[in-house]
Amino acid sequence: MMMYQSTRGAAQVSPMQAVYEGMAPDGGLYVPTHLPQLPYGDWAQGTFVQVAQRILSAWLPGFDAAAVLQGVYDAFDTPQVVPLVQVGPAHVLELFHGPTAAFKDVALCVLPRLLKAAGQQLHPGTRLLVLIATSGDTGSAALHGFSGVEGIRALAFYPSKGISAVQRAQMVTMPGGNVAACGIQGNFDDAQSGVKRIFAAPISADVRLSSANSINIGRLVPQITYYYTAYAQLVRQGTIRAGERVDYAVPTGNFGDILAGWLAKHMGLPVGTLICATNANDALDVFLRIGIYDRRKPLARTLSPSMDILVSSNLERLLWYACDGDSAYVSDLMAQLAREGHYAVSASVRERIAQDFVSVSVSDAQGLMQIQSVYRQHGYAMDPHTAAAWAGREAAQGNRPCVVLSTASPFKFPQAMAQALGFAGIDDTVDAAERLGQALGQPVPVSLSGLGQRPVLHPDVIEAGDMDDYVRRMVDAW
Ligand SMILES: *Cc1c(COP(=O)(O)O)cnc(C)c1O
Repeated sequence: MMMYQSTRGAAQVSPMQAVYEGMAPDGGLYVPTHLPQLPYGDWAQGTFVQVAQRILSAWLPGFDAAAVLQGVYDAFDTPQVVPLVQVGPAHVLELFHGPTAAFKDVALCVLPRLLKAAGQQLHPGTRLLVLIATSGDTGSAALHGFSGVEGIRALAFYPSKGISAVQRAQMVTMPGGNVAACGIQGNFDDAQSGVKRIFAAPISADVRLSSANSINIGRLVPQITYYYTAYAQLVRQGTIRAGERVDYAVPTGNFGDILAGWLAKHMGLPVGTLICATNANDALDVFLRIGIYDRRKPLARTLSPSMDILVSSNLERLLWYACDGDSAYVSDLMAQLAREGHYAVSASVRERIAQDFVSVSVSDAQGLMQIQSVYRQHGYAMDPHTAAAWAGREAAQGNRPCVVLSTASPFKFPQAMAQALGFAGIDDTVDAAERLGQALGQPVPVSLSGLGQRPVLHPDVIEAGDMDDYVRRMVDAW
């Protein structure tokens, strides 16, 4: 029987418990006691759902993978789910065809189903409230994923001034009855510490709290799928022979997306180098190059906001693997990070990690240039996050085929696109996506069009200090 344990301790839980709890009680993240092995083979030539089913079954036995995945990807605007498109010399994996136009949809369509199934099995009759602190993309993807899921409510807190008009509109117009969004007078950190405060002092005995953050193993597993299907497509189109290695360039923030690639490699997919692309918030880039993690810098606001992050939670899982599961060592590093704001790893851990990763930090100016030159040369508009990965691919200069992961639709970041491509008159407004569509002569994804005409269902904006009361009132009214 496959079990999970914390990166900071030895106590074991079932896959269902790992998903339901999200995070281990000792503050660590859940990892499987044995990494499932799934070497690349013809099975990976199946549909996205078939491949996902195989991976889900290997990682999360106990769940009915077929039932969990039934119809999940129908909300994507293409039957391929995550198409691989050739753009000049690169293979771009478009992960943004889901209901909120960012890659987080791939996993956040699945996680609510997993949580519901785990709840029914482990704590039947218990209501679950999912709290989300979001700086943009996670909120809308999570609310969409939980919308209409029985027995679960989801509430996203966002900084009322810190997100784009398009991102806000996506959240405040989200239908579903069981989901809501609420603005905070403060920044993302205020929202995040408010949520942590509520977790620390649970509000009601009959409502359990959970999180949809990427620390949940149920969010990582669905992401492994596209590393396999992209590889399978390269084999099918004759770009590579089965067994040849392929590099992947990944725009990285919390280290969840790229960790899924690392897991795929160590499950048996012939992955070469994983290229980690960050923006000016480069703590990860520095760590991957010199083995020192240091979060003692101010957070810069960049044109790729979903990568504006100082502490990349999922790195803890990689550290655990790189030190052969020495949870005392991982606990020490994490305690030092919390206490002093930095840590350094041993030479052997650094060497292990260097076998799989290279990294690059990409400035806003470089990203804008990249968007412009790719658009001019190939007529392909990529978003600022994808541009970082593209720049990473060029900087790494590998001689293997490289898949560039495209994590958001360019229509989610119309202002940055306008800046890169020299379009005038596109400001931070709800109809900015439509304006960009006109300028590019391309259709706007359904999920981002007509946002200004949708009714605002969740108008609330509160003081950060009132978050506890807000949640209490919501629980009382349930
Ligand atoms: C969340 C996000 C990322 C970063 O992914 P991680 O798993 O946090 O590393 C990159 N690009 C976009 C558009 C995102 O929404």
